[in-house]
Amino acid sequence: MKFGIFGGRFVSEILYPVLQELEDSYLRISRDSGFRIKLNNYLSRYAGRPTPLYFARNLTEKIGGGRIYLKREDLLHGGAHKINNAIGQVLLAKAMGKRRIIAETGAGQHGVATAMAGTLLGLNVEIFMGRKDAERQRSNVKRMRLLGAGVRLVSTGTETLKDAINEALRDWASSFPDTHYLIGSAVGPHPYPTIVRDFQSVIGYETRRQFIDDNGKLPDEIVACVGGGSNAIGMFYPFLGDHGVKLTGVEAGGKGLNSAHSAALSAGEKGVFHGMLSYFLQDQDGQIADVYSIAAGLDYPGVGPEHAYLKELGRAKYVYSTDDEALQAFITLSKTEGIIPALESAHALAYAMKVAKKMTRDESIIVNLSGRGDKDLDTVFAYMGDENAP
Ligand SMILES: *Cc1c(COP(=O)(O)O)cnc(C)c1O
Repeated sequence: MKFGIFGGRFVSEILYPVLQELEDSYLRISRDSGFRIKLNNYLSRYAGRPTPLYFARNLTEKIGGGRIYLKREDLLHGGAHKINNAIGQVLLAKAMGKRRIIAETGAGQHGVATAMAGTLLGLNVEIFMGRKDAERQRSNVKRMRLLGAGVRLVSTGTETLKDAINEALRDWASSFPDTHYLIGSAVGPHPYPTIVRDFQSVIGYETRRQFIDDNGKLPDEIVACVGGGSNAIGMFYPFLGDHGVKLTGVEAGGKGLNSAHSAALSAGEKGVFHGMLSYFLQDQDGQIADVYSIAAGLDYPGVGPEHAYLKELGRAKYVYSTDDEALQAFITLSKTEGIIPALESAHALAYAMKVAKKMTRDESIIVNLSGRGDKDLDTVFAYMGDENAP
């Protein structure tokens, strides 16, 4: 129930037994072979698993150091790893007899993945989204509606993700008998961080097998970007016992840690929000701070509790890349390998390129390419200005 002191279940008395029921059901259902067969079938035939582990030869030669591999989660249906968790939790909800799914979304990507999975499996989906976020991400609102989801605009507070989370929790406190709350990252009250990690750990299990098949040994380092931390923990988890493999999470350094960013592990404090004890960016009164990144999927004010624990244990290391560094990596990968990475993933790539440069030619580093970057073209070209556009 806890990762060291982190995690826990900081919710109202109404929701506490609901979360206990979810935990009990999850433990029972996830062990059921019928459930696992169904999940694996949807992951392979609908979502596109297994994804390739790709040796980036051109990029490796350009950098001139260690071998750089990419785990191609960008090739999944929907263009990112989020579908792994969405399908898993919708199947879980169905097995629990629920008929309705609610979720919160900031940038809209988790809302879209939830709408896809809900439609696929025949449940009603309602997505809570801050009004300001909805204005910034109009095309994702259209996608969600087209996919059959209701979008509930939240006009309280700052009209962004943290208000959408509060509203979704409020809805769930009265709707839980027929509704599952589908959290999109490895965050929230227990058992969510564990459930999301388990559904995303397919990434790491595949990667481990694929790398050993190709190389007959383990990689030297694994790198993943960290928003709430789901693609990173899914990649790291199967390697936790492999002590020779360095694990590095890369947060969004935005315009720098003295300015706007969302690097909760690098610059945050311990606190309680969204039902868990973890690291959060807060103001002096402990209020959750406004966060920023050029990558919309990374601007969550906290981080999943298992990452806080791995940091404290020293098993994983957490660093950050700035907007500028991510942008350079975004362009470099596009121009060397013909792969446009999500700006989120480009944060991990930027760090990996620095490390690879210092590695010998028989060392290897794997980057979790959590998503594709087609969604980011307008952001990138606006940021660069037309005269500097790549
Ligand atoms: C949402 C998203 C992230 C950040 O979420 P995590 O839970 O930290 O993985 C990273 N990459 C992409 C492509 C995303 O869509």
